[in-house]
Amino acid sequence: MKKRKFKKEIKLILLVFVVILSSIFCFLLKREVKTIKTFKSENILEQKDNYNIKVSYPIVQNKKFSNKLNNLITQKIKLFKAEAKNLKKNRTYELNISFDIYDNMNNLFTFHFTVYEFLGGAHYNREDFIYYYDYKKNEEIRWEDLFIDEQQALKLLSNLSKEKLKNIYLNELFSDEALNNGLDSIKDNFELILIGDEDVTIIFPPYQVAPWSSGALNIILNYNEINNLLNNKFRKNVQIVKEQNKDAVNRNLRDVNKLKGKKLIALTFDDGPSYNTTSKLLDGLKSRNAKVTFFVLGNRVKQLPNIVKRAYEEGHTIGSHTYSHKNLFNLEDEEILKEINYANDQIESVTGVKPKVIRPPYGNFNEHIINLTNMTYILWNIDTMDWKYKNENYVYNKILNDAKDGGIILLHDLYETSVDAALKAIDKLSEENYAFVSFEELEHLDIIKLNRNHYFYSIYNN
Ligand code: ZN
Repeated sequence: MKKRKFKKEIKLILLVFVVILSSIFCFLLKREVKTIKTFKSENILEQKDNYNIKVSYPIVQNKKFSNKLNNLITQKIKLFKAEAKNLKKNRTYELNISFDIYDNMNNLFTFHFTVYEFLGGAHYNREDFIYYYDYKKNEEIRWEDLFIDEQQALKLLSNLSKEKLKNIYLNELFSDEALNNGLDSIKDNFELILIGDEDVTIIFPPYQVAPWSSGALNIILNYNEINNLLNNKFRKNVQIVKEQNKDAVNRNLRDVNKLKGKKLIALTFDDGPSYNTTSKLLDGLKSRNAKVTFFVLGNRVKQLPNIVKRAYEEGHTIGSHTYSHKNLFNLEDEEILKEINYANDQIESVTGVKPKVIRPPYGNFNEHIINLTNMTYILWNIDTMDWKYKNENYVYNKILNDAKDGGIILLHDLYETSVDAALKAIDKLSEENYAFVSFEELEHLDIIKLNRNHYFYSIYNN
């Protein structure tokens, strides 16, 4: 009797031991996974005869900060309406305010707002502004609070910017005097700082360091270049992060044999990633077991590597949309290669492999560009015009009406309306024997071949 009881006790102790060990293991595993916080957004849509307003801004817990954002947006809308009222009635004026979020994975969030306003001039006006937010304490962080010593910070930012801008954008920048004004060590010149997980980006809006035609330029600083200036709590040891990224990537891929006999559609998402909307899309695709292709911009991958890593791990194909969305027709060979290679390097640093597929900005490419760059150019046969309408129902109906076996559908994951429409369309079309596939899956199915200086508009007939 005694012996049996003893055995029982040993069993019990062993069991407890195993439970403790496995919970420690689970805890360690969990710590590895970075969670992505999302914010709800407030959306304002107003379409009148001579103007369109599309505004989106985040909802945060802190009332004071929430009111501040609200007032700012209300004020912008009011001013825009007053201007539009005074202008000719026969044109459509536009106000478009959108935001992006950057997470430094240390409770610090950067909200980056972009305002595009069209009031009948030669082109849009663009304005950027940025707010910082402490997610844990639920309070706004002021720009000044990022640094230990503001003056010293400005001096270094000015020097680093001169050096880096000249390195990347030499032919586009203003000549010296105007450039120096735009990079003078004053706060006005360096207010647009995105604090990312792996590095820090400074944005220079049109006209600050280069003409309008060059668009907004940006440079990327490593944490080790500015850690000394940053307040303690915002500093990061980048080495550790970089090493984590080199870990072999585990991907959740499907058995493509199960796709045989289905009608195939390739959903493609350009211009991303974007913090909130791409995360929402990935959640939706995961629960529907659908795979898609993302044609990402290199400069955005650099700012949001974790989102791209997640998309890759969840089995989606990551293709290139070049580094900064320039029209390749306007570039010299050397510049084309720079746009392509920078983006490929950036994607490789996140996924571990160079992308095989590319979607050229505006769909602009030719034989010469293909031969120069040695990638597969993927165009589309269904254009949802989602960027123009930003309307969930319109995009949803467009997908349903045009859906066909072999369809390559062009969408943009920057817009919540596109994400919602795509997910709804997946639900509907899945009932009609459609499957949603990535380009890697199409290659595994032997339907297409990638990496052979080739281009196509449809899944079949290539
Ligand atoms: Zn694009």
